[in-house]
Amino acid sequence: MFSRDTVARFQNLETPFYYYDLNVLDQTLMSCKAASEKFAFHVHYALKANFNEQILKAIQKSGFGADCVSGNEVKKAIEIGFDPGKVVFAGVGKSDREINEALDNNIYCFNVESVQELGVINELALKQGKQARVAIRINPNVDAHTHQYITTGLEENKFGVNQWELPACVEELKRCSNLELIGIHFHVGSQITNLDVFKSLCLKVNELNTWFLERGFDLKVLNVGGGLGVDYHHPDENAVNDFMSFFEIYDRFLERRTGQEVHFELGRALVAQCGSLISRILYVKNGLKKNFLVLDAGMTELMRPALYQAYHKIENITADSANSIVSYDVVGPICESTDCFGKEVELPESKRGDIIAIRSAGAYGEVMASGYNLRERVRSVYS
Ligand SMILES: *Cc1c(COP(=O)(O)O)cnc(C)c1O
Repeated sequence: MFSRDTVARFQNLETPFYYYDLNVLDQTLMSCKAASEKFAFHVHYALKANFNEQILKAIQKSGFGADCVSGNEVKKAIEIGFDPGKVVFAGVGKSDREINEALDNNIYCFNVESVQELGVINELALKQGKQARVAIRINPNVDAHTHQYITTGLEENKFGVNQWELPACVEELKRCSNLELIGIHFHVGSQITNLDVFKSLCLKVNELNTWFLERGFDLKVLNVGGGLGVDYHHPDENAVNDFMSFFEIYDRFLERRTGQEVHFELGRALVAQCGSLISRILYVKNGLKKNFLVLDAGMTELMRPALYQAYHKIENITADSANSIVSYDVVGPICESTDCFGKEVELPESKRGDIIAIRSAGAYGEVMASGYNLRERVRSVYS
């Protein structure tokens, strides 16, 4: 929901742009922080969801750590002011250069995704005369019940090591004198709305925590990743996630020994609802079978619908609400048929120049913008 003043402000601005409601962001961060502190859980923000500087600064100020998936994200997090002691680095394909830079910065932990990577980090740490802290990312073979393109925790996915490879990891760790195993790491997928998935994950983590203890590894950290979903259908009613219920699942089902820490890596749940993509209608095409609204924003600004068939709520924020309702396919200007934000979207009758808001676009939106068709870099505006 946008206030009259906000809509009036949009009317004076060139579109398209991302609009970030920093008030919604702050409320979300405060709610997550309060809930996590209740259980003494540690939260690292997954930078890949949104690395816009204003957003990062707000998150850093709230005291969260940073979860990075590239060397440049590690650099960015540290530049913004995240404590290197709260930076973790995951990713299935870390280059030597990225590993070296992360070692230079003394980050907290590498989340390691293969047996071979253990050996490589060990060798590079040895050359720098350092001990590298590592956690093994284990593929728990838990089905996230989310879209197949954003499921990561099944054996068929490329991420992490499978359970049958763990004895090999243990052998490798014994050989690697410049590695310190501090924990185990999991991330089963994204946009998970069924909390039972997290319960299944807890049971798996318990089993593996014991497995490692039996082999002499008293793990300090259980890192259960992120994945908490948001309500794309009700961005106003559910602007802030129910973090308490999420953390309660872990508190209830995850067994931890005295001193063992639980770490989370939340991305989407912290930033999705504070962002909207604001766009103008360029053309209205009325056909025999379909009506199209052609926007000045497309998949180059927000790729999720084209990439994952993702749903975003679409609103015409300037049409007279008394207009009759018409069904439109809402499309972008890019030369691809998948450049479509929504099919058969019911909206008040719309005209050229009306302003369209595509909601819940704060996560995996601006960060995925591309220059395809030589498009302008999308701008951002803040509340
Ligand atoms: C993407 C990612 C996250 C964050 O996922 P969300 O679904 O946005 O919470 C956390 N951990 C890892 C390793 C990731 O790759």
